[in-house]
Amino acid sequence: MMTEMKAPEAVPSEILEALRSHERVVVTAHAHPDGDAMGSCLALAWALHSLGKEVRVFNEDGVPGFLSFLDSPSPVVTDAEALPWEPELIAVLDCGDRARVGEKLQPLMDRVPTLDIDHHLANPLFGSAGSWAVPSASATGELVGLIVQELGVPLQGPLAEALYVALSSDTGNFSYGNTTPLALRLTALLREQGLDIAALREKLENNWSEAKLRLWGRLMDGTRLLEDGRLAAAFVTRAVLAETGSRREDAEGFVEQLRRLSTVRVALLLREDEKDGKVVTKASLRSSGDDSVRDIAAQFGGGGHKNAAGATLGMDAEQAMEALLPHICAIWN
Ligand code: 5GP
Ligand code: MN
Repeated sequence: MMTEMKAPEAVPSEILEALRSHERVVVTAHAHPDGDAMGSCLALAWALHSLGKEVRVFNEDGVPGFLSFLDSPSPVVTDAEALPWEPELIAVLDCGDRARVGEKLQPLMDRVPTLDIDHHLANPLFGSAGSWAVPSASATGELVGLIVQELGVPLQGPLAEALYVALSSDTGNFSYGNTTPLALRLTALLREQGLDIAALREKLENNWSEAKLRLWGRLMDGTRLLEDGRLAAAFVTRAVLAETGSRREDAEGFVEQLRRLSTVRVALLLREDEKDGKVVTKASLRSSGDDSVRDIAAQFGGGGHKNAAGATLGMDAEQAMEALLPHICAIWN
């Protein structure tokens, strides 16, 4: 049942068989979804919808504002109780492990067959009905693109927009070292079939609120350069969010700005949040080339990719900084 492949050229037959043979399907991805997570979900949902299946996209955090322009075949569900039916299959996308889906869907995942379709390193192949984990894929969107083609659904309309968002998000707009020929080939196909890339990028990028602009200004001002400039760290505290009137998701993407500094080898964004009445801090780590931040995140219960990883620590941002620092310094010491 389980398949791990280096080259993602062939979709495992059990993945296609499961998708073809079930009529009520939930498609989900990690909580706090990024462009790849939500774009992949919506692209697969559109494909299943056009095959006449009942499909719902589930994400316990819903669709983030910056992706709200993407169309969905039906409203995205944030509570398992709000599903109109008991699903026959749950397709779990872009989750390095099962817990990434969040807590709300876990009971349903215990009793319904699951597919694990992902591109994170060390994915434990948790799908009970099949797993397809391809760490060399730049985005889960690559795998979804292949699935959609195997299902015989055209790469057009809202499906195409969602797939483009998935591919362009995880490749840094096709510029990171992870960008594969397949990601580019799929994008070429989308373009050939009529995708208006300029219009899409307008919606994707030129959509800031003033609050977000002010937040980024404050974050730039407050960035700490440590270790002779090799480490840049920015802190998103609850106070700065309140003072600028911005939302937590407005800090999405800021960590990439820190990596622009010529001296920086590791960029760190620390976002404070509250969980069950306690302060927690989401750490986003970025590096370049052979410097791996994934192992650092993994030591704190997180994960990700060599150059982009994250973890949630049960402490405030200052404490998280202290906890992470020796592990980060180990890269150059
Ligand atoms: P970001 O920092 O943008 O949230 O995430 C960067 C990469 O690390 C993404 O591929 C994301 O899926 C992964 N990642 C972020 N947070 C976690 C986490 O808590 N656990 C795991 N396993 N992966 C994470
Ligand atoms: Mn991804």
